[in-house]
Amino acid sequence: MKTLHKKRKISLITLAIGICLHNSPVLAHGHETGKPKLGFKTEQVSGSVYMLSGVGGFTGGNIGLTLGDDGVAMIDNGLPSVLEILRAEIAKTTDKPIDYLINTHVHGDHIGNNEAYGSGQTNVISHQNLRSSLVKKGITTANGETQKAPKDYLPVITFSDEMTIHINQDSAKIKHFAAAHTDGDAVVYFKNANVIHTGDIMFNGLFPYIDSGNGGSFNGVLAALQSIHDMSDEKTKIIPGHGPLASKKDVADTIEMLKGTYTAVKALVEAGKTDEEILAANPLKPYAAYSWNFITSERMTQQILTALR
Ligand SMILES: [Zn+2]
Repeated sequence: MKTLHKKRKISLITLAIGICLHNSPVLAHGHETGKPKLGFKTEQVSGSVYMLSGVGGFTGGNIGLTLGDDGVAMIDNGLPSVLEILRAEIAKTTDKPIDYLINTHVHGDHIGNNEAYGSGQTNVISHQNLRSSLVKKGITTANGETQKAPKDYLPVITFSDEMTIHINQDSAKIKHFAAAHTDGDAVVYFKNANVIHTGDIMFNGLFPYIDSGNGGSFNGVLAALQSIHDMSDEKTKIIPGHGPLASKKDVADTIEMLKGTYTAVKALVEAGKTDEEILAANPLKPYAAYSWNFITSERMTQQILTALR
């Protein structure tokens, strides 16, 4: 248990670094005895759908794959620094090329390898706001500079509300949720496999990051999670943006946590407290288990204050 906790802590630190530095290459090689080398773990989730998650360090957000007779579609693609490790991991399961690459949102730890795949035969798909954001704001390079997004980095297929890919005896419905983690979020629902990839709308067991600078909002995350919950049944497998594979119950727990934290902060705002007084009072103490290096209780309180003020 202790070891697990330690490992989780390490991966959260690197997660924080990864998100903060956006596209930067991230570290973590197995210096510690017994610690696995940086790589991926592939698990078959259901039907044709697999989940790839990082081991031994931070590789980016969780990746989804559908593999079958028709070909391969991938959801998100991790940090640029893990491209070769990712390719080698996928090659263990299939020798087919990636036909479609779905981007769940604009962050570099989810779409950092768009150019590498987009320059080949892969069709990159995203919500139209994600593409617009890349065109307008560019991308952050490994050394922290902003540069124009290369042509092959940009999605070639965009949608406004939802679209469906019919592949591998399943339909993958790609649905937009407005102003949630960002303003260009996509959730992917495999109907027959009964699997949902949520992108960063769901952080399983962790306080969420709400990127208001990229059009995200607290209420949008809550509304999206409620819809994801309603789309699910007891057997649905949910691939979160970060954290372990989740269930409908985990989504319900996350919704409850968000409502509880919101209510706790709102009560202090309504009592006329200043932001400083509210932060000092630590109203999210009962939810400390969700706190992590990047989104601490204090930062979560600030995110709620942003929503309330
Ligand atoms: Zn994100």
